Amino acid sequence: MEQWQKQLRNSISDVDQLPARFGSNAEEMRRVAAVYPFRVTEYYLELIKEIGDPLWLQCIPDPRELDDDRQLPDPLHESRLSPVPGLIHRYPDRVVWLVSQSCALYCRFCMRKRHVGCGGEQIFNENNAVAYITEHPAIRDVVLSGGDPLLLDDDRLEHILTGLRRIPHVEIIRIGTRLPVTLPQRVTRKLCRMLKNFQPVYINTHFNHPSEITDASAQACRMLAECGSPLGNQTVLLKGVNDDPETMKRLMQQLLRIRVRPYYLHQIDLVRGTGHFRTSIAKGLEIMEKLRGHTSGLAVPYFMIDLPGGKGKVPLVPGQVDVRGNTLLLKNYLEETVEYPDICDGDGTG
Ligand SMILES: *Cc1c(COP(=O)(O)O)cnc(C)c1O
Ligand code: SF4
Repeated sequence: MEQWQKQLRNSISDVDQLPARFGSNAEEMRRVAAVYPFRVTEYYLELIKEIGDPLWLQCIPDPRELDDDRQLPDPLHESRLSPVPGLIHRYPDRVVWLVSQSCALYCRFCMRKRHVGCGGEQIFNENNAVAYITEHPAIRDVVLSGGDPLLLDDDRLEHILTGLRRIPHVEIIRIGTRLPVTLPQRVTRKLCRMLKNFQPVYINTHFNHPSEITDASAQACRMLAECGSPLGNQTVLLKGVNDDPETMKRLMQQLLRIRVRPYYLHQIDLVRGTGHFRTSIAKGLEIMEKLRGHTSGLAVPYFMIDLPGGKGKVPLVPGQVDVRGNTLLLKNYLEETVEYPDICDGDGTG
């Protein structure tokens, strides 16, 4: 057994095992954990400074999860968009393949709360998924997600990647993983040597707060970058965790230092059990206004809203363009309205 697997086995999934300094209301936590699974690594627990801090909020069960009935378990209709179990095919040229049902830490705000961590590792038949992708030549981009794909052992992962690389029309593979944040020891030299053989493999990780950037997580990202994977980051905008412009700016800037390029900032989905993390759209737009122009463009992610009913992701931009005939009125980061002439030759289609 590898070191990271031992650490995973030592992770805490019973609220009674929480150190006394976190066990303020074990009874209530247990009630929540009976509905939505609980797990946290010792590594991540060590990063928590006090009850209620941004890291604590992300992993410790909260009674508010149980009295949130306004929202839906699956607002994005992922189940309906699933042609074979484990695959979500919403856009013509790319699919999401849920290759794992487990995570090292169960985020309390998880969009797939309805099944992640609920047991039954084999949620898909690998051959069926590969056959579906093979039969659909329009698919050029396969996103491995879950759960966390890097919780599969190296052999399992290599088998999946080998299957995908045999399909000529699969141009790129993406892996969405939170393990650099929650169990950075998972990124071993052996894993990196293996990934090197399947490039281009884009890795999107998931940091939500600057305190999650540590020496260990920085090293995991460096190793992944050195095996040739471009690194991106998807952050979820979370009340009490990162919903202020200064925290968000620091997070984005610090990610660039560890070679991770901010990709998406997600408005949290309308998923049941996560309502206490919701922020207004206006809050997200305010944060975006305070990033764009105020820091490196590389540090500015797209602010995305995933439309209910599986209608797709849409970027939201603060101070959208105001079109007046052939003149665009654009608001810059200083909130000046600037005119931009919309001139092109010919019929105006550019
Ligand atoms: C988010 C998502 C993708 C990937 O979208 P990109 O904008 O290309 O990153 C693909 N399929 C589904 C179902 C998704 O939810
Ligand atoms: S790592 Fe991702 S899939 Fe796993 S619990 Fe967190 S948000 Fe959900």
